[in-house]
Amino acid sequence: MKTIRAAIIPVTEFQQNCTLLWDNDTMQAVVIDPGGDLPRLRKAIAETKVKVEKIWLTHGHIDHAGAAAELREELGVPIEGPHRAEEFLLGHIAASGLKFGMFSARNVVPDRWLDEGDEVEIGTLKFGVLHCPGHSPGSVAFVHKGERFAIVGDVLFAGSIGRSDLPGGDHAALIRSIKDKLIPLGDDVAFICGHGPASTIGRERASNPFLK
Ligand SMILES: [Zn+2]
Ligand SMILES: [Zn+2]
Repeated sequence: MKTIRAAIIPVTEFQQNCTLLWDNDTMQAVVIDPGGDLPRLRKAIAETKVKVEKIWLTHGHIDHAGAAAELREELGVPIEGPHRAEEFLLGHIAASGLKFGMFSARNVVPDRWLDEGDEVEIGTLKFGVLHCPGHSPGSVAFVHKGERFAIVGDVLFAGSIGRSDLPGGDHAALIRSIKDKLIPLGDDVAFICGHGPASTIGRERASNPFLK
């Protein structure tokens, strides 16, 4: 990759892969899925010396969006994504926090809802948006076609797929999202997912047992 740099910071008890992604030419950065553990995120931001200008959300679960409202307030940057179909989940974060003992988690209303075909930008980098329902109804993936790189949230994992048994989940829709939108990106596309190690579309197409 030429200008994209990314650091993965696992956050919350769910070990969610919060991703600090930046344009290495300009050092402008986006925090993707700040679910919690803000001190850890602040440290990563300071160490990489980037300037965070955006927050992007793949979907509305607490481990992905629980600290988004607080980070937005602290940095004064806009939140982009997910798709509007996540509104009910984003409005349920504080209640989930009580259940999971994440008492600082707050509900969040994004500054910009995203839809299929939209574009988001950080520095000179432009990412396309794919609406990938199934794990949750408004999950989105961010794709940089030129650099063959994507962030897919909890839609697809290395050797697994997202759960579809949570509110708004739909197994058939999830499989369709993966087969119709992610697989066609091409075997050489590398991706970071919401939990666990990164992978490539090619590896998952060939060996993911859920896609047989
Ligand atoms: Zn999730
Ligand atoms: Zn997750």
